[in-house]
Amino acid sequence: MSRSTVVSAACPKKCRRCKKGPLVGQGAEGGRKHVGRGLCSYCWELVAGTDKLFDYPRLTRFSEETYFDWQALLARDPALKKREGAALLGISYAALDRALTRYRRRLREENGAVA
Ligand SMILES: [Zn+2]
Repeated sequence: MSRSTVVSAACPKKCRRCKKGPLVGQGAEGGRKHVGRGLCSYCWELVAGTDKLFDYPRLTRFSEETYFDWQALLARDPALKKREGAALLGISYAALDRALTRYRRRLREENGAVA
């Protein structure tokens, strides 16, 4: 299962532990590598496998989780706009839209239909 990308509103510019930055994507040059949970690779090495890791929750969501959260919101209020739903989920409209598109595409692919 693939994770959705880090939502832009939550993506830190600096490491959440050592406060150094900028954080850049995997394999990118010119900054400290971002390895998830908003930590640079150095801090990740320090906290991985320890209880300190729980101080830095994941910043990413499964698109499946986002899809079911959105469906639950729609069940409660069928007139809910996607933009309002994104705010309730704490993610951007674009992140919600991408997650829904990604999840539906995966469903089609898993069902053998041509996407
Ligand atoms: Zn760090």
